[in-house]
Amino acid sequence: MKQQVQIAFLAVYILFFSNATAQVKVGKIDGSLWTANYNSVDDFDYASKMEILVYVKCFMELESLKDIEAIKSKYNIKSANLNSFENWRKEQIHLILQNLHAIKSNSILSKTVAIDKNCTWQEVTKAIVSIEKNIPTNLKAWYADAIVFNRQYVNELARLAFLFPRPSSEVLTIAPNEITGNNYKDKEFLLTFDDGPTPANGNTDRLMSTLKKQKLNGVFFVLGESLQNRINASSKERVATLYSGNKIGSHGKIHKSHQYLKAWQESLDFTTSAIQKLNNGNNKTNYFRPPYGQRTVEISKYLSKSNGSILLWNIDSQDWNSKITASEVSDRVIALMLLWRKGIILFHDVHSKASDALPIIVDSLNGSGVHFIDSNKL
Ligand SMILES: [Zn+2]
Repeated sequence: MKQQVQIAFLAVYILFFSNATAQVKVGKIDGSLWTANYNSVDDFDYASKMEILVYVKCFMELESLKDIEAIKSKYNIKSANLNSFENWRKEQIHLILQNLHAIKSNSILSKTVAIDKNCTWQEVTKAIVSIEKNIPTNLKAWYADAIVFNRQYVNELARLAFLFPRPSSEVLTIAPNEITGNNYKDKEFLLTFDDGPTPANGNTDRLMSTLKKQKLNGVFFVLGESLQNRINASSKERVATLYSGNKIGSHGKIHKSHQYLKAWQESLDFTTSAIQKLNNGNNKTNYFRPPYGQRTVEISKYLSKSNGSILLWNIDSQDWNSKITASEVSDRVIALMLLWRKGIILFHDVHSKASDALPIIVDSLNGSGVHFIDSNKL
């Protein structure tokens, strides 16, 4: 056992130093190192509290970023917007406190690292100073791995915040009709799937049967061109049947940043009209998910004229990334569900990993009190 722990530490050590040199890497966490499960409300809350505290520790490391040149070189970016970063930082603190306050059980609040029911930010940052020495032996390997993951993850977000709004992304909103999932109720999650549909019998079809088996549904953000191709290759009725039980949203006609796309309006109109035809005009809510989360205030305003919204996300599965396996995707998504405790999960139905990861996620969280929102009730 001791040898196993040593090997785990060595692996984490190597992972950390290889991560430190390459900036654009996907954050991974090994869920098997968490020695308990998430199958009850208390189990979920304990894992959630520990995940949040490790995130806070890594989030606090960003405080040392003062020099603009150092920021630009660390994140490999041409300019850094300190105002955007500060707005993002404030929102993060608000969310972290809200999530810690959602933990109700006294035994969980006092376990390992004691935090108060109505803790302030100052108290939280004080509590994490002693986190390392309080980690029980059976969680030491988990902790070492969680630090690596959260450090990578917080830097993924901080980089987007420094860049914002050029390009814009999911880390901040710019208009009232933009939804990130941060305002959802505790433990409520929405599943979303981008970039489809695939041609018949592809990953979109496979995912549909996975969702049916799991008695789940979601919002599919389709590319107008791919949707039209699939309709042309079969029929409107067949494609409507494919999506039945789920909601369809727009991802634009083609997969390009709409922030920089001159013909963004044509792209939106084309896709909305294709979706409406499919739903016989019943698709009243008009959700748009901008590719890469990149949009402008003009796009948000244009959508609001027809009661439309921008649906972003706060949990990025990274399932599109060839450097991450399906089981690593499920570990990453579970860790982020524990961290954010609510929100919108981003998957891609054009890839196969969502189909493989979802049953693991659902099974791991069975009994935890997590609820997947019925996309038809949006
Ligand atoms: Zn996309």
